[in-house]
Amino acid sequence: MSLSKQQIKQFKQLLLQERAKFAGEIRTLAQEASKNPREASGDLSSYPVHMADMSADTSERELVSNLASNEQAVLYQIEDALKRIDEGTYGVCQQCQKPIALSRLRAVSYTSLCIGCQRTKEQKK
Ligand SMILES: [Zn+2]
Repeated sequence: MSLSKQQIKQFKQLLLQERAKFAGEIRTLAQEASKNPREASGDLSSYPVHMADMSADTSERELVSNLASNEQAVLYQIEDALKRIDEGTYGVCQQCQKPIALSRLRAVSYTSLCIGCQRTKEQKK
């Protein structure tokens, strides 16, 4: 079973929405990460900065940047999926070349692997 033109069009629409959403979230996270910690946690300018405070701030920043890189990774996958739509290979597993189940595409529209290949990949990790 391959996708109809109408279905491809719907997925493209969906992917464009997802792309806009993730790009927006990454921008917000980048702003969070670049915020001055004193601004973010209120006026503490009269207090000396303790080492403990600094490390707490660092781990929070790391969390935000990890989050941003996860979102960035998804954004790349969305870009890839949009490319495959243009190339006419969307909905086909990049590993075994078989069609990806429609239910799977509906759940994860940017996936490039069928459920079987995805599982194999995850087991290899
Ligand atoms: Zn496959």
